[in-house]
Amino acid sequence: MKSGAYQFHTLGCKLNFAESSFLGRQLTEAGFHKAAEGEEPDVCIINSCTVTDTADKKGRQLIHRIRREHPDAFLVVTGCYAQLRGDEIAAMDGVDLVLGANDKFKLADYLSQNIAHQPVISDTRHMTPFFGACSKEDRTRYFLKIQDGCDCFCSYCAIPFARGRSRSGRIDDIVRSAHEVVENGGKEIILTGVNIGDFGKNTGERLIDLLHRLDAVEGLHRIRISSIEPDLLTDEIIDFTAGSKLFMPHFHIPLQSGSDKVLRIMHRRYDTALFAAKIHRIRQVLPNAFIGIDIIAGMRGETAADFEDSYRFVSGLEFAQLHVFPYSERAGTAALRQEGPVPEKEKKARTVRLIELSAQHKAAFVQAQTGTRHEVLWEASRKRGFLFGFTDNYIRVRTPYDASKINQLEEITLNEEHIAHDEV
Ligand code: SF4
Repeated sequence: MKSGAYQFHTLGCKLNFAESSFLGRQLTEAGFHKAAEGEEPDVCIINSCTVTDTADKKGRQLIHRIRREHPDAFLVVTGCYAQLRGDEIAAMDGVDLVLGANDKFKLADYLSQNIAHQPVISDTRHMTPFFGACSKEDRTRYFLKIQDGCDCFCSYCAIPFARGRSRSGRIDDIVRSAHEVVENGGKEIILTGVNIGDFGKNTGERLIDLLHRLDAVEGLHRIRISSIEPDLLTDEIIDFTAGSKLFMPHFHIPLQSGSDKVLRIMHRRYDTALFAAKIHRIRQVLPNAFIGIDIIAGMRGETAADFEDSYRFVSGLEFAQLHVFPYSERAGTAALRQEGPVPEKEKKARTVRLIELSAQHKAAFVQAQTGTRHEVLWEASRKRGFLFGFTDNYIRVRTPYDASKINQLEEITLNEEHIAHDEV
């Protein structure tokens, strides 16, 4: 097929959303058009995720739903789940084409060649090309892909198998994309990747140099780093952020466990002392920064005592929010050889305790910010007569709906009425 209406369904991380947006523009340039509201699509593309079992399950459920809702559409499945379980997905009823993590960037070509029912999946071990992507036109806040893949092979993680070796774009190309965002009327960029701190591994360029170049982009108002590994978050990057007008006081740092023993089981490349030092450094130079932390509950080998160590360590940190993930067995990962699986009931109980701890810290962080001045970028999301946005330090806020405020920056004195309690 060389034309028709397309529809994307994206699961997972900001990287996937940036790539779906990029692929959509690629299809438009190739003669397709985005299906309008209520228009029956000719081709549906699912961009899948495989970070957990639940993500795989959501992918399968979405395949069944899309097939039910659009029985005549050509159904393409791509993304990380497709990369790792391509044959399994290709055998599912109603799936016409499966494209691997890098093969998806030739989507328009494969559609025009009428290829069907043969998974096209390149081997990630030899995957070197870096394909840039940016979520233009789809959002008020732009996801800009700067890096892909990972060489770390943490024992619980399937991402290196799904996305290949660490590689990144060139600083000049990324800065050019940032200028295009400004020309498009964009005010905020979120730098995204799999392991952003590993930027430049294949090019010899440095992340800090990219940050300085982006900091000088005229017309841009805000930049966020979506996530960065603690051992790659240098004091230089923290201090740079503190001195920058564009880089927001917002850090998302994967800890995964507050127990040094469990960090070793996970093959993580730091200990709790290093992690605590990073938090301390941020608090010294950016006392109001929003710090989000990823943590896994119920990792294989995590005893009840290990969990208590982890909980105690995390409780003592000055963070705003935890992203809690119950450990999920991933095929092919080293963790499967680790003794001591945690029973589901116990894993759930640990997850709930961490979620409760996160709620306490979030409430305390927001309370401490009440009465202070913050700049908000209002987005297009509308619900119950409100408009929503994020403060500079990543507090979700709302205001009575006013279309003229969409994509506008506004200084506010944060008060209780502003706080959007998990509304959108
Ligand atoms: S750093 Fe570890 S957890 Fe993160 S993508 Fe790489 S292997 Fe996975």
